[in-house]
Amino acid sequence: MKKRSIFFLICSLLLFSKTRAQYLRECGTPSSSHDFLKDIPSHEYNRLPGQKVIKMFVVIYRDNNGANQAMTEAEVLEEIRVADSVYNIGNICFTVVGVELRNSTTYNNPIFPQNYSSEIVSDAFTVFVVNNVYDEPDSLSGVFGWSPGVVATYMITKKAGFGTRRTFIHEMGHALGLDHTFKGTGHDANNLGCDELADGSNGTTCGDFVQDTPADPYQRCGTTISGCSFPYTAPACKDANNQSYNPQMTNYMSYWPNYDCNRTTFTTNQYTRMQDAIDNNASLTALLAPNTKTVSNATISSGFVKEAAVSSITAGPNYILNSSVKARITSSQIILVPGFLAQPNNAGIIIITPSLCQ
Ligand SMILES: [Zn+2]
Repeated sequence: MKKRSIFFLICSLLLFSKTRAQYLRECGTPSSSHDFLKDIPSHEYNRLPGQKVIKMFVVIYRDNNGANQAMTEAEVLEEIRVADSVYNIGNICFTVVGVELRNSTTYNNPIFPQNYSSEIVSDAFTVFVVNNVYDEPDSLSGVFGWSPGVVATYMITKKAGFGTRRTFIHEMGHALGLDHTFKGTGHDANNLGCDELADGSNGTTCGDFVQDTPADPYQRCGTTISGCSFPYTAPACKDANNQSYNPQMTNYMSYWPNYDCNRTTFTTNQYTRMQDAIDNNASLTALLAPNTKTVSNATISSGFVKEAAVSSITAGPNYILNSSVKARITSSQIILVPGFLAQPNNAGIIIITPSLCQ
């Protein structure tokens, strides 16, 4: 009896270590089994009108000596432009109110994501672009980015996550309230929750809590898949009702890029969930640009000026930006009235630019 117990223990350990070793991670965002939107009765949801324009500030790191800059400003802005074309479908848009290069070997290299909380920029969603991100010990494929949680006001990503991998879009999905499509169902120890059935009957209470994202077992059924095709041929992969899974392998919140899939899709309900998260989470609502704004009667000579409005922004009268100030003013319409003065020195810069959010 004792020998049999030891035998089973050894088998279990081998199985456990094999499963852990084969787990192909993609991002490091922690999950919880709690659906924060369920804390609010749906008839009490805030529903803010119009396009949701989120102010975004980009911090690009390089080492202390200026080497190993994670990405260029142009590369990051191009990825945000692509993201806007995706999020605009759901009436959500990101408008850049500042870009800053920071020298820090510490933050440019793997460091636990929560450490960036002391580096965030006020009054905007902060995107930290780093040379290399903190990785999980059991990750084979590498972690490309992090949101510190599901709903967050900052994220961290690296160059390898840009382009076709679309890590930036994925992490923004987490920040705006989306979980992985395989949450609960995938049986990853870092993704708590409960199994979503393939027929979708428990789609709002299990899995990712999103009804129209199909149940996604990810690697639960094995790792023999290749070439972005499903189902697995072996072993058989069925839910509790003995039904086969049919996951959406192109979903932005999946891990299927690890199996050659391109992520291209948010579902209608995922867009709705992000809109609800923005309208009902105070820390996200606070990042929204107002519809109109006037800035006047101030002289600002240093630091960052981050001004954005959805429809129209008026600068002046008596609005002076000078010396080393780094200012960005962005909206669909920008009105400069007499008394607006832009006079930066060589260390300053003033950018007045139309918003990509139309
Ligand atoms: Zn993720």
